[in-house]
Amino acid sequence: MSVGILGGGQLGYMLALAGYPLGMRFRFFDPSPEAPVGRIAPRVTGDYSDRTALEKFAHGLEIVTYEFENVPVDAAHFLAKRIPVYPPPAALEAAQDRLREKQLFEKLGILTTEYVPVPAASELDGGLKKLGLPAVLKTRRMGYDGKGQWILKTPHDVEIAKHGLPRLPFIMERFIPFTRELSMLAVRGRGGEIAFYPLVENHHRNGILRLSLAPAPAIRPEIQKSAEEAARKIMESLNYVGVLAIEFFERYGELLANEMAPRVHNSGHWTIEGAVTSQFENHLRAIMGWPLGATTPIGASAMINLIGELPNTTQVLALPSAHLHLYGKEPREGRKLGHVTLRAPSPEMLKGRFAGLPEYFHQPDFCLNDADRKNPS
Ligand code: AMP
Repeated sequence: MSVGILGGGQLGYMLALAGYPLGMRFRFFDPSPEAPVGRIAPRVTGDYSDRTALEKFAHGLEIVTYEFENVPVDAAHFLAKRIPVYPPPAALEAAQDRLREKQLFEKLGILTTEYVPVPAASELDGGLKKLGLPAVLKTRRMGYDGKGQWILKTPHDVEIAKHGLPRLPFIMERFIPFTRELSMLAVRGRGGEIAFYPLVENHHRNGILRLSLAPAPAIRPEIQKSAEEAARKIMESLNYVGVLAIEFFERYGELLANEMAPRVHNSGHWTIEGAVTSQFENHLRAIMGWPLGATTPIGASAMINLIGELPNTTQVLALPSAHLHLYGKEPREGRKLGHVTLRAPSPEMLKGRFAGLPEYFHQPDFCLNDADRKNPS
C-alpha cells in the first residue's frame, strides 16, 4: 500500500521508518528540494498551490496524510476529492487558526487560556483592558516553535508591539504562570476506537521543546483522565482519524488547553523506544483502518531534542540506554537536528542515566533534579 505524506520534515521521516516494517511505501510532497525525507523515499517537490504537482503526487496513492499542520487546507481538499485524506481537513482548519482552535475548545467545554481576538497589533487596547499585563500576543496563523508570539510585560512592550508588528490578525492571551507543561497524545482509528498515551511533561526554551519526560512524573489519575476526556471530545467532534497532540498548561492542579496539533508530535518521539507501539506506527495503523497498538509505556523515558548543533555520536552511543536519532539536516541555529531518548526501568533510574550524559547535555534544561530545573520559556 502506498501512502502519501504532505510535508517532508523529520516527522514524515519517522512515519516512513515506522511504516516500512509493515510493508508500506511512501511518497512525500514538500515545497523544499532539501526536505530530509529525500534520502529515504521518493518526493515530489512543488508548491502546495500547484495542482499539477499535487496530481502527480496523488497518482497511484491509496491514502494521504500530513506531518505538518500548516499544509494549506485547499491542497488537502483538492486531494480529498481523489483519495481519502486523514486526519480530516477540518482538523487542519481548526488547528491552523489559534482563534478557531480556542473557540473549538470552548465549544467542547475544554478549559483554555483566557484570550481576546485582536484584529491588528495597533488595536491592542481592548485586549489589554480585559487581560492586563503580562500578556502573550500570538499571530492567529503560522505560529510554531514560539515563532509569531511576543510576551508583553510592560507598557513599553505594548508600544513596541503596536508600532512594530505586521498588520496581521492576532489573539492576546492572559500570561499563565503555570506549574508545568504537559501534552496528551491520543490516536483514533477509522472505526472510532481511541487509545491514549500517558501524559508527557515538556520543557521549552525560547518556545522550542527541549526535553520531554514520559510518563510525566507525579500525575494524578484525575489529571490524566481530564486530558483523555479533552482529546476524546476533540477527536469525536472532528470525526478524527490518526494521532492528535494537545498541549496543556498545568496550574493549581487543573489543565488549560494551549494548542493542538493534528499530527504526530515532537513530545511523542519517546514512544519509538519507550512505548509498546510508537506514535508513528499508531498513526499509520489508524489511517489504514488497522487495529491500534498498545500505548503502554515501557519504564521511564526522557527525550532530548538536539537543537542547532549535534553532540558527538560516539559519546552518545557509548551510553547503554541512549537511542540516537539524526534527521540528516544541516546544522543551523534553532533547528531541530535530531533527538536522543534515554530509557530506564524507573524514573529514579532515569535520573541516574542523566548523570552520565556527556558535556553537550550539561544545561539546566536537561537536569532532572527538580530544585535545579528551570523552565525559562
Ligand atoms: P505555543 O506556540 O502556543 O505552544 O507557545 C510556545 C510556548 O510559549 C509554550 O510552550 C509556553 O511555554 C509559552 N506560552 C504560550 N502561551 C503562553 C501563555 N498564555 N502563558 C504563559 N506562557 C505561554
